[in-house]
Amino acid sequence: MDSRIPLYFTKHPYDISGTEKYFMRAIRENFSYHILHNPDYAEIVRRELGFKRRGRGELAEEAASLIRVEEDISLIPPIPTAFFKRKRLWTMKPWQLPVKATSSGTEGKRSEMAYDCQSIIFGGALAGKLCSFHGLFSLRPANYIILGYEPHRTNKTVITKTQFISSFFAPPIRRSYALKYEEGGYTLNKKGLFRDLMSFCRSGFPVRIIGFPAYFFFLLKTLDRAGIRMKLPEGSMVLLGGGWKKFEGSKVDIIELSGLAEKVLGIKPESIREFFGAAEHPGLYCSCKNHHFHVPCYSRVIIRDETSLKPLDYGEPGILNLITPIAHSIPLISVMTDDIAVLHRGEDCGCGIKTDYFEIIKRVGLSEIETCSQTADRLMRDK
Ligand SMILES: [Zn+2]
Repeated sequence: MDSRIPLYFTKHPYDISGTEKYFMRAIRENFSYHILHNPDYAEIVRRELGFKRRGRGELAEEAASLIRVEEDISLIPPIPTAFFKRKRLWTMKPWQLPVKATSSGTEGKRSEMAYDCQSIIFGGALAGKLCSFHGLFSLRPANYIILGYEPHRTNKTVITKTQFISSFFAPPIRRSYALKYEEGGYTLNKKGLFRDLMSFCRSGFPVRIIGFPAYFFFLLKTLDRAGIRMKLPEGSMVLLGGGWKKFEGSKVDIIELSGLAEKVLGIKPESIREFFGAAEHPGLYCSCKNHHFHVPCYSRVIIRDETSLKPLDYGEPGILNLITPIAHSIPLISVMTDDIAVLHRGEDCGCGIKTDYFEIIKRVGLSEIETCSQTADRLMRDK
């Protein structure tokens, strides 16, 4: 049986000890699958692991047999997101992949991602379990303020799709978008958004604010400066995700952001949840009530030294490397992001979730982590 089935359909999304054997099996299966079916990836593994003269079958067997215990996962060559932005490394053919999306990178540097039917089902199970665990589903209809892009057929970004899907967590009454699609482009809908927020507030139905944290911060600042104080109806929620992107310089931490939201919108800090994800990593992280991203049983996190790429211990900042056995479409098994993060022991949080959690120290641009760019360059050159 495919080991992803018991892993992704497990009851408790943070039951790492109960699912570890399935996770390890799924990782070995995924690693060997991509080596067998993707000649470019096999070449990367061959060179990175020093197995020069192996055929693909032999290589798949030998490379997978190296991954015995969790610590061995770090041996799987981490592919920087920069690599996916420069090259398609698809294992499956485009016609086998029903969902295609891009990362939201600028200046034409986007990763082209695609997912096969199985990984979409597993991804759905994963997202459903996590959101249900964190109490994000409700049968009570809600009005949505979406601090992001209005969906349009020309917009293929993962974040826009994710934000749209999130607007079904409670049955939607109305949606109001910060960026509306009009006459062939996106325009800022500031006035309409404020008007809708006021009217949603009076409607008595819960309001759900979904979007980029920077936009939420700018909205709060504007309302605060104008001296506006509101009380969002009971059951309202704020779901943030997508990082600060070009507004990294204006970034405030989640505690400060929650404090401002409580002051302006009258919403409790525990009703503000943050998501973390990357277009190149089909895994989802939802913050706990203490605003920490615990690692669910479907993925693992390795923090690597910025220069040597050696795995680091708890508390040491380094490059965030995300591990998932979910996809057959593309070898996304070990992806090195361009974020600097720190891993903490689960018990240090105190929210009740026992698994380790990571803290993003800095979301940096590609050019700022030279190691990632250099690794991407090397992988390209070696091919
Ligand atoms: Zn926690």
